[in-house]
Amino acid sequence: MTKENLEYVSCNLCGKDDYIVIYEAKYQNETQEDLKLKFRASGDETLIDQVVKCKNCGLIYLNPRIKSDLIIEGYSEGSDEAFVSQAKGREITFRKSLKLINKYAKKGKILDIGTAGGSFLHVAEQDGWEVLGLEPNKWMAEWGRKNYGINIKQGTIFDNKFPDNYFDVVSLWDVLEHVPSPKKTLEEVNRILKEDGILVINYPDIGSFIAKILKRRWMFLLSVHLYYFTPKTIKAILKDTGYDIVKIKPHFQKLGLGYLMWRMKAYSKMLHVLGTGFVKLFRLHNVQAPYWLGQTLVIARKRK
Ligand SMILES: [Zn+2]
Repeated sequence: MTKENLEYVSCNLCGKDDYIVIYEAKYQNETQEDLKLKFRASGDETLIDQVVKCKNCGLIYLNPRIKSDLIIEGYSEGSDEAFVSQAKGREITFRKSLKLINKYAKKGKILDIGTAGGSFLHVAEQDGWEVLGLEPNKWMAEWGRKNYGINIKQGTIFDNKFPDNYFDVVSLWDVLEHVPSPKKTLEEVNRILKEDGILVINYPDIGSFIAKILKRRWMFLLSVHLYYFTPKTIKAILKDTGYDIVKIKPHFQKLGLGYLMWRMKAYSKMLHVLGTGFVKLFRLHNVQAPYWLGQTLVIARKRK
């Protein structure tokens, strides 16, 4: 790892630059190409960067981190067949989440930021929503257009300028922890949401008991996750960017067992080998298993 590939950032929540180190960096000799590869679509590379905690507000984040332009460039390239093979599990999860969203939102226009293959929007469209997706990864955006026939624009929220007060719902599924500045993203989302519009976020909670037990082996500690929220810091950042939380709850996701076992490889070789054998023996590859490792769902309303 060379220094010119790294950037130091101050706390995204309070702006201070005073922190303690929680996990030390484990850099080897990664080249710029290696780094870009890390940020490909499902980016399951285990953590090599330094994790710090702000002494002032408690926000946990990577610092220093790989430069944001390398991250964005990395996201736009590459394909991810393994991710889209899990579309079925995602649809099941999203159908359930949408029921909850419908309790708080007025049905209308929905924007899904970082929509990947567009599974959430597919489910929302079937439910009568007018849908639009943003996805930085070219291959993934194309997959969503072809397979679901959904309008997906390539890029981030900053590449696509939307009018003020435009959407009834904006969702960020497994996205906020990836963006270079969650604060700027949430502010921009606030601008394009209608009065009374609803924001939906899902994030992995580093304050959850599972994260505390697993420590450095917690599955969501990844080089692609630049921020690690807790209920306290997510509440603070949403308050600062103009939202009132209406619901916060654990979020169970469903994935095929075969895929879960494959993902396990990065954390425990033994579990991966045993699990894969078990799944093959009993032909459980496509069984959809619910799993929870700290994922948290937040529904918030734009403050008047
Ligand atoms: Zn801070």
